[in-house]
Amino acid sequence: MIDQAQLELLMHFQPGDVLVTSVYLNVDGRRFTRKEYEILLKDLLRGVTAQLDTQPLTNEQKRSAQEDIRKIQDYVSVEYDGKGAKSLALFSSSGRKFWQVYRLPLPVKSRAVVEPVPSVRPLSVLLDEYKRYCTVVVGREKARIFEVFLGEIQEHSDIFNEVPSRVREGGFRGYAERRIERHIEDHVHQHLKHVADLTLDIFKRRHFDRLILGARPELLPLFESHLHTYLRERLAARLHLDPSLSVHEALRKTLEVEQDLKRREEQHLVRRLGEEAGAHRNGVTGLEATLVALRRGQVHTLILTEGFAAPGFLCPGCHNLTTCDAPCAYCGKPLQGVPDVVEEAVDFAIHQNCHIEYVFNNHELQEAGNIGAILRFRS
Ligand SMILES: [Zn+2]
Repeated sequence: MIDQAQLELLMHFQPGDVLVTSVYLNVDGRRFTRKEYEILLKDLLRGVTAQLDTQPLTNEQKRSAQEDIRKIQDYVSVEYDGKGAKSLALFSSSGRKFWQVYRLPLPVKSRAVVEPVPSVRPLSVLLDEYKRYCTVVVGREKARIFEVFLGEIQEHSDIFNEVPSRVREGGFRGYAERRIERHIEDHVHQHLKHVADLTLDIFKRRHFDRLILGARPELLPLFESHLHTYLRERLAARLHLDPSLSVHEALRKTLEVEQDLKRREEQHLVRRLGEEAGAHRNGVTGLEATLVALRRGQVHTLILTEGFAAPGFLCPGCHNLTTCDAPCAYCGKPLQGVPDVVEEAVDFAIHQNCHIEYVFNNHELQEAGNIGAILRFRS
């Protein structure tokens, strides 16, 4: 599971005297064979080596970067099993013994750079697409806390509070029994409060986006009443679950909620895009119109069908992207063909601080050309 602490370490990593090598590699099996992306990586790393030779670097910096290149090459050709990821993000600063690898579920434009700090922007934009969920399942005595991110689950701790076993209702309910009942209810309240406090602790450390509560129906409102406002604001679903559930079931239930919410959010976003574009307000749809809006710096949110790719052209002079094979409309230079102009557009949007929303299966967006943008301003 991609760990929040690991990510924060990466975001704030400053190696001082040595440099960091950052590599993004598109390993999407729909586009590349293993051999193809291995060759692509070799070319990228060769480019980095050539770039290092032209810079005035210390011996330590050179040694560290060369070691980075060797380790990255080894990881991709030997260690990476080629399964499950659409792209890899690798960060290395050998002189500081710093090494991190992320396997990502979305494709990204391949690139390699050696810079004073890690190149984290594409990674952070892609991870923004995914919400971190916390699922808390409580019973009268037990509780389980899970965190789910990018389809993986991690259980936080098995919390068990001693609660005296329930007094059965007998024929005669004496004073002592009523007192024991009250004592038990106090324990249940204390237990629920304890679990609510633990959840808040986890929230402060891990910054999850959404909370799912699972409990028996009669316990849900009781537990909710103990939750801090921060947590109540993030409440995404209430489910009828028992703490004896398996980790696998906890994952399945969480992913159901996540997929349902994501589908509804996508529908809402695509509908808004359709309305804005249809009324010629702050929206455009279709590849060429979107590329023009990107070029003009108008794009607030780029919206595209995941997996959408199309050939196009890139101007080597001004980086204009287009689907029209003609001299550049902005600077007049002849254009270069690129195998996937959509990938170039996403990369451009990432570096322009646009939001990027991948939509997984939406008929309306497919009809509108698989791509569009909500605009910051009209032209
Ligand atoms: Zn141009």
